Amino acid sequence: MSVVKSLVAGRILEEQLFPYPRLRDKDREVLGAILDAIDQFLAPKHADFKRWDRDAEQPAEFIQGLRDLGLFGLIIPEEHGGIGLSNAAYARVLGQSSTHDSSSTLTIGAHSSIGMKGLLLFGTAEQKARYLPKLASGEMIAAFCLTESGAGSDAASIRTRAEKNSDGSWTLSGEKIWITNGGIADLYTVFARTSSPQGKITAFIVEAAWPGVSHGAHEDKMGIRASSTTTVNFAQVRVPAENLLDLEGKGFKVAMAILNNGRTGLGGGAVGGMKTLIGLSSAQANSRKQFEQPIGDFPLIREKISQMTVDCFAAESAVYMVAHYIDSGYDDYSVEAAISKIFASEALQRGAYEALQIAAGNGFMREYPYEQITRDCRILTIFEGTNEVLRLYIALSALKDLGRSLGDLKAAVDGIFNHPIKGFGVLSDYAERRLTRATGVGRDKILTELPPSLRETAGIYERYTVEIARVSDVLLRRFGRSIADQQCALKRIADIAIDLFVGLCATSRAAALVRQSDKDAAHATAIARVFAQQAKRRMANNLRRIERNEDEEMNQLAGFILDKGHYPWDVI
Ligand SMILES: Cc1cc2nc3c(=O)[nH]c(=O)nc-3n(C[C@H](O)[C@H](O)[C@H](O)COP(=O)(O)OP(=O)(O)OC[C@H]3O[C@@H](n4cnc5c(N)ncnc54)[C@H](O)[C@@H]3O)c2cc1C
Repeated sequence: MSVVKSLVAGRILEEQLFPYPRLRDKDREVLGAILDAIDQFLAPKHADFKRWDRDAEQPAEFIQGLRDLGLFGLIIPEEHGGIGLSNAAYARVLGQSSTHDSSSTLTIGAHSSIGMKGLLLFGTAEQKARYLPKLASGEMIAAFCLTESGAGSDAASIRTRAEKNSDGSWTLSGEKIWITNGGIADLYTVFARTSSPQGKITAFIVEAAWPGVSHGAHEDKMGIRASSTTTVNFAQVRVPAENLLDLEGKGFKVAMAILNNGRTGLGGGAVGGMKTLIGLSSAQANSRKQFEQPIGDFPLIREKISQMTVDCFAAESAVYMVAHYIDSGYDDYSVEAAISKIFASEALQRGAYEALQIAAGNGFMREYPYEQITRDCRILTIFEGTNEVLRLYIALSALKDLGRSLGDLKAAVDGIFNHPIKGFGVLSDYAERRLTRATGVGRDKILTELPPSLRETAGIYERYTVEIARVSDVLLRRFGRSIADQQCALKRIADIAIDLFVGLCATSRAAALVRQSDKDAAHATAIARVFAQQAKRRMANNLRRIERNEDEEMNQLAGFILDKGHYPWDVI
């Protein structure tokens, strides 16, 4: 069961959150050597990365170096020539490479997380045997081709077409934009609309060398400038029948499964970036003196450093919990994966802002790494699903499941439910009593196995699990199916769910460190406690604003400005 969907229904699935999972022994054995090799290869290239960022290029010899290190075969099973890492270990590897360079991380990550993931998840034995060994060695690099000029967040509206030929092959025509690895890939996972009765979207494996496949120029981007981003064009490309991926008409499901499964790679990379920032900021705070003191003595600087640490620990805890769900074969983890992506990407962006602020004037100079990190991490809230769309996805997915369970409630109290005014308060009370009785959340503590230092922290999550269930119940009853149009309320539900899930992951991890008598466990406990107090304030605010807000006025104001198309006032 999905942990977050259960939270929104008023249940904390304790056994899926505690104890905090450990990396597989097999992964631990190989990770040390891989991380060392990455450091040895990437650390001497920091000056090159700066130059390649400026020149927007990634030389072929460097990509060959990534191949030689085996970094294109990280998650490909050993029987196909890869290293066969788990999702958790893979996220850790991307975390390490992103401590050196974001563009390099993206080149490796786009190949594994999304480029060839479809083949891993949905490929036939024959397709895997044909392509995976070449993908593992890096002889073939992969890219994921979904976005088009008219289809970004609304990916289902793509217009690339695949027409079925009489011999069972397909003719593919269309153009994809902003494809990571577009200019260096040998293999594309392409999504196209088919005109057959099954219609809908279908996924194909397409080789770059086939006639009719071409790519555009390297895009001149704000960040991750060295990594390849191009258009990819398919002009009447003949795709053999055996390169259909999964079933005809199932392409949208394939695309979403790839993106969900790949999110921990992005999260792991973001955590690596945060660790770099914490290291840079610590060095700066210790060495820079003003008013005859290291700036690290000033509470306003210390607050920034500790907040970055809280955010990093929380993001890391969530990312590796989700990776564990994927590695353990859970089916329903897409909401948790979306949460880990949102939290990690935004935490990194907050960290980049604060680290640059600590470095101040130096931070603004291109000589220092902060401005590049700020530019590089900006993409993370945009691609692989914008954070706005993912928030809507989190709330709607959870409410949909709750709505199903409320169907039973509706049948039990049908008469009252049909009377919108009289029934309302009765039902809210009823729902709360029902939730408390059914789940034990609220009055009785259910997080049982925690060290005493984390009990109060757990109490916060228990209380707000009841609250999110109560308010979701109220919203569903008030808006029914039209809840999908209540985006501001959905965002608040998503934000409460994010705080609950990330906070529970951080608490679970701190508890595990206490149990292992980790020498820094007291600090980890402090982080979990601080996060919970901060989350409590955010959750209380979000709950309050579901009922009392300025949404309508804001909406009208947006309408006014959008109609005008500009800001209408001046002081003249
Ligand atoms: C550097 C880079 C690399 C990329 N790599 C790849 C790749 O490898 N493969 C690939 O297929 N794509 C790739 N993309 C595309 C990326 O996934 C899209 O940019 C992303 O999905 C958003 O689409 P869009 O930019 O068209 O924004 P839009 O969808 O036009 O969104 C614009 C704004 O509206 C918001 N919005 C949209 N819909 C809603 C809604 N229903 N409710 C509320 N708000 C909404 C968005 O959150 C956003 O703020 C890449 C993009 C970039 C910039």
